[in-house]
Formats: sequence, C-alpha cells, structure tokens
Amino acid sequence: MQAAHFRVGHGFDAHRLVAGRPFVLGGVRIEHDTGPLGHSDADVLTHAISDALLGACALGDLGAHFPDTDPQWKDADSLRLLAACHELAVRHGWTIANVDATVVVDRPKLAPHVALMRDAIADVLALDVERISVKAKTSEGLGYTGDGTGIVAYAVVLVEALERRD
Ligand code: MG
Repeated sequence: MQAAHFRVGHGFDAHRLVAGRPFVLGGVRIEHDTGPLGHSDADVLTHAISDALLGACALGDLGAHFPDTDPQWKDADSLRLLAACHELAVRHGWTIANVDATVVVDRPKLAPHVALMRDAIADVLALDVERISVKAKTSEGLGYTGDGTGIVAYAVVLVEALERRD
C-alpha cells in the first residue's frame, strides 16, 4: 500500500493568566494587565502550533523536547522552540503545507494583533503568510477563558513528505 504523503497534527495548550507577566502570543507582545504563567514565555499559540507540528510528524510533544525543568528554557522565546521543532520536522523529511490555529480568550482583544502574529510565525517557519491562519475567538464570559484567568489555543498543521515515502 502506498504511504500517505500528507500527515495532519493537532495541538492544544492552556496557561493561567496572572498579573506581572508579559502577554506574549504568536511571538507578539501585547499590552495587557495580565500575562500567561509558565516556564518559557508561555506563548500558548506558539506552543499549540509546535505540538501540532510534532504531532503531524509523530515526533512526540513539546514538553518531551523542551522540559519545563530545564533552566535553559526559562522565559524562553517560544518562537525559538517552534523553529527547533521545524528543524526537527525537516530533518525527518517533512515540510509544512499549512497551519490553522484558534486562540480563545475574551480579553485582550486580539484582532488588531493577528496580522503581526501571522507574520512572526510565517517568518520563523520560512513560509508564505497565506499558509498561516490565526483566528481569535471569545468564550462570551464562560469559563476560565471568559473570566480572564486563562487562555487556550488549538492548532492543526498539515505536513507533506519532502520525498515519496512508499
Ligand atoms: Mg504551553
């Protein structure tokens, strides 16, 4: 049987929002009174995309490659982690076809920042920006994404084999 030339991966991430942390999303710093708590910069969008990419290539997950016990990743720029995941995917013979991601949080309003996020992610993945989709959703006051205590991101990544794998 001929092997598929495409694989899809799914990623999810959630972080608590707390005072005194910078709000970084998709590599973009946004002015806000809280920011995601985590070992790295806790960029949920970049983490979800990284996990989706690793998942598509069946290469484990972000925590396995960049443990939150490792001081080298303290406050790390998550775009660097995404770049490292991308290098790993390419070494295993995969190229990214497209990325589609959804961030869920009621505040801050993300729409004015989405274009910058798409540019930053496209840049680190060396892809045309039209292959990168970022959607901002609210949860209308419901749950931890609605009451300002948390933020969530979901992503899917489609990868294509650089060479025939049959
Ligand atoms: Mg995370």
